[in-house]
Amino acid sequence: MSPTRAVCDADPDSLTIAQAQERIQARLPRIAQTAEIACSEAKGRVCAIDVLSPMSVPSFRASAMDGYAVRSLECNNPLKVAGQSLAGHPAMQTLPAGCCFRITTGARVPDDADAVVQQENVSKDGDIVTVLQAPKEGLHVRLPGSDSARNSILVKAGSRLGASEIALLSAHGVEHVRVKRLLHVALFSTGDELRNPGQALAEGEIYDANRPLLQAMLSSEAVHVTDLGICPDSEAALQAFLSKAQTADIVISSGGVSVGDADYVRSVLEKTGQIDLWKIAIKPGRPLTFGLTHSKQAYFGLPGNPVSAAITALLFVIPAINLMLGQSSQTVPAMSLPLQGKLSKNPGRVEYQRAIMSRNEHGTWQASTTGLQDSHVLSSLHKANCLIELGVESCGANDGEQVTVYPFTHFSQPIL
Ligand code: AMP
Ligand code: MG
Repeated sequence: MSPTRAVCDADPDSLTIAQAQERIQARLPRIAQTAEIACSEAKGRVCAIDVLSPMSVPSFRASAMDGYAVRSLECNNPLKVAGQSLAGHPAMQTLPAGCCFRITTGARVPDDADAVVQQENVSKDGDIVTVLQAPKEGLHVRLPGSDSARNSILVKAGSRLGASEIALLSAHGVEHVRVKRLLHVALFSTGDELRNPGQALAEGEIYDANRPLLQAMLSSEAVHVTDLGICPDSEAALQAFLSKAQTADIVISSGGVSVGDADYVRSVLEKTGQIDLWKIAIKPGRPLTFGLTHSKQAYFGLPGNPVSAAITALLFVIPAINLMLGQSSQTVPAMSLPLQGKLSKNPGRVEYQRAIMSRNEHGTWQASTTGLQDSHVLSSLHKANCLIELGVESCGANDGEQVTVYPFTHFSQPIL
C-alpha cells in the first residue's frame, strides 16, 4: 500500500537533475594546463597523463611467508638449513641440493628454490628441517611483475590520486606525477543578514554557514579556493564581487537566486554573462543558477538555505569541478535498504532526505530519516550519514519498503 497521493509538486518549467547536469556539462570550460608535482603532495589531484610502470613489481621472486625456501620435489626428505635470505639481505647463491634456506617475507627466493614452506609447516631439529606437508611448485613465491609489469599503465589519465594510487606509484619508484593544475574557485555568500562567526549579531541577522560548508566540501577537491566573504544584497556589490573573482575558473555563490525582492544574482548574470538554467526538480535545492560570466567563468549560484546549498553542491558543483579537471566520471555508489518508519512526499520532484543507516537488533542494515527536513536545518544534516533518494514520481515510502540510499562521503558522520 502506498501512502495517500498528495498534491503534485511538479513545475512544468523545471529541469530534471540529469537534464541540468547535461546542460552544465555542455557549457563547462575544461582545464588543459598541467603541473608536475611530488607524489607525496598529489592526494586529491587529477592525473594528467597515463603513468607507465618504470619497473616490474615485484622485481625479483619474493617470498610471501616467513619459512624455508625449498625445491618442492625434495621435500619428502629432511633438508639441511644451508643459508638464509632476509628482506633487504638477499641470498645470491643457488640453493644447494638437499638443502633449504631460512627465508623471511619479502626476501629474495634463492635461485633453484621453487617454493616456500611456512615455518609452521616444518619441524626443526638443529639445522635439519622436516617438511610436514610437501608444497606444490610455486607455493608462497611472488613472481616478478605479478603486481604490475614494466611499462604497463599504473594510473590512467583522469584518475583521482588517492592513498592507493600514491602508494602504487611509490612502490614503483615514481617520485613525481603530472597532474591537472588546481582549479581556482572564488567563493562568496550573499545576504545583508549574514555575519561571520566572531561578529556580534543584530536583530534579524544570522551567521554565514554556507561559506564554511562549501569550503569544507571543496577541501577534498583539487581546487584552490579564494574566499571573497559576504556580498551585500545589491547589484553594484555583486558586480564588484564578480570583478574580484575574475581570475577564478569557477565562481560559487550562495543565496539570492530565488524570486524574492533581493534575489538579483540572476539579473546581474543576465546582463553581464549568460544564464543557463533556473529551476531543477529537486528538493531541497530547487532554485539553482548556472551560467557563464562575461569572461567565460563557470558560475554556480546555489540556494541560500544551507542544506539546499549542500545538496546542489554535491549534485552539480563537485561533478562540474571533476569534469573541468578531466577526471573520469565516477558513479556514486547507491544501496537499497529497508526503510525504518514512514516518509511522506509529494510527487513532482526528486527528494533527498537526510537519514541514518544503521544495523537493527538482527544485524540487518536499514535507513531512517533524521527528522526535520527543512532546508535550513543543519542539525539533521549533522546527524545523517546518508541521503535517502525518493524518485520524482514517489509519493513517499512505507515502513519496511526498500529505498535508495547514498552513503555520505563529503560529510563526516561515520557509518557504523
Ligand atoms: P536566499 O536564497 O538568499 O533568499 O536565502 C534563503 C534562506 O537562506 C534565507 O533564510 C537566508 O537567510 C538563508 N541563507 C542565505 N545564505 C545563507 C548562508 N550563507 N548561511 C546561512 N543561511 C543563509
Ligand atoms: Mg538572500
